[in-house]
Amino acid sequence: MDSRFPTRPSIFGLTRPELLERFAGWGFSPVHVARLWSYLYWSCVPGWEFMPELPAKVRSRLEDAFTLIPPAVARETLSNDGFTRKYLLALEDGRAVETVLMRFKGRVTACVSSQVGCAMGCGFCATGQMGYIRNLSAEEIVAQALHIQRLLRTGAVSSRHEAEGIQPDRTTARLRNMVLMGMGEPLHNYDAVMRAVDILRDQSGFALGASRITLSTVGVIPGIRRLTEEARPVHLAVSLHAATQEERAALVPVAHKWPLDELIDACRDYCSRLGRRVFFEWTLIDGVNDGAEQAHAVGVLLRNVPAQVNIIPLNPTSGFGGVPGRGEAARRFQHILVEHYGLPSTIRQRRGLDIAAGCGQLIGRKT
Ligand code: SAH
Ligand code: SF4
Repeated sequence: MDSRFPTRPSIFGLTRPELLERFAGWGFSPVHVARLWSYLYWSCVPGWEFMPELPAKVRSRLEDAFTLIPPAVARETLSNDGFTRKYLLALEDGRAVETVLMRFKGRVTACVSSQVGCAMGCGFCATGQMGYIRNLSAEEIVAQALHIQRLLRTGAVSSRHEAEGIQPDRTTARLRNMVLMGMGEPLHNYDAVMRAVDILRDQSGFALGASRITLSTVGVIPGIRRLTEEARPVHLAVSLHAATQEERAALVPVAHKWPLDELIDACRDYCSRLGRRVFFEWTLIDGVNDGAEQAHAVGVLLRNVPAQVNIIPLNPTSGFGGVPGRGEAARRFQHILVEHYGLPSTIRQRRGLDIAAGCGQLIGRKT
């Protein structure tokens, strides 16, 4: 065993009910769990020594049982757009993942990764181009959100963003929005992702609102079905990119396994059973999926699905030669969806491209 790897589990992988159970087994009062949880997820302390209100015997028990190690930041990059920061976080096994912090008009959002690499193989995506390396654990997902929260608390992200007129309140600053749209396919790592969501949603700690978490999937149907069955409190975004099975399979290889008609059925079911809508993402590629005909096909396909379509002009990646759909094509696409089909639609602002922090650009490489 490599001595750099602690054999104890990270405390950030446990839910509060699990900690309560552990404390009961140790014969400690649940009051201490409440304090501990608040240190971990409200104060976001970086070590056991910052928990003065925990009795020494409780602290030493915890130290013996768990690690509490914030992720090491291997690199931080700030985009010239002034709104986007990217963090390369080093993992214990020598791998790394990227987390993106976006601040715009007072809204702070963390774009969090769920895997190192991705097995889904979409050719236009840099994460897909690197292949699948491994799933992240729940604690590695939680750690990304905590990292952003700590930065907000310490004011470390304020300098350039103060140009926006936002003064960070260092005692109460909170990360309120999280999108699972970083590296990887979250529904290919369902258990760890949902465990992380449970931990971050816990009202007595991090308290992320259900309406503030969006999970984006390439269309892993069994995952969407399970999410529906379990009524998981996350918004669902589905990467569509094409409105016919043939065109979609050319862009998204897993469409062979999970065909478009079944995907739309699963989305419809999600909406009707949970009373929600689905956000469909459409990476706009010039001459590939930006035509008026395709926009009409989307309108027809989504006729009976409560939906919103987010158009994302293609971001450049080294392994794909496509060109982003032009502004004019994006506006025409949007116009058709809205005017002909009453489908709400947005065009995603392109941000953070100079630091490769845009959708589909994350690779988590150290050099
Ligand atoms: N695996 C999930 C979430 C991560 S990708 C998914 O595919 O949905 C997040 C979003 O970025 C997806 O909508 C994906 O289609 C989009 N994306 C991937 N590569 C892109 C690129 N080069 N340009 C623009 N969007 C891209
Ligand atoms: Fe994976 Fe999503 Fe990239 Fe496709 S777009 S390769 S599913 S991360």
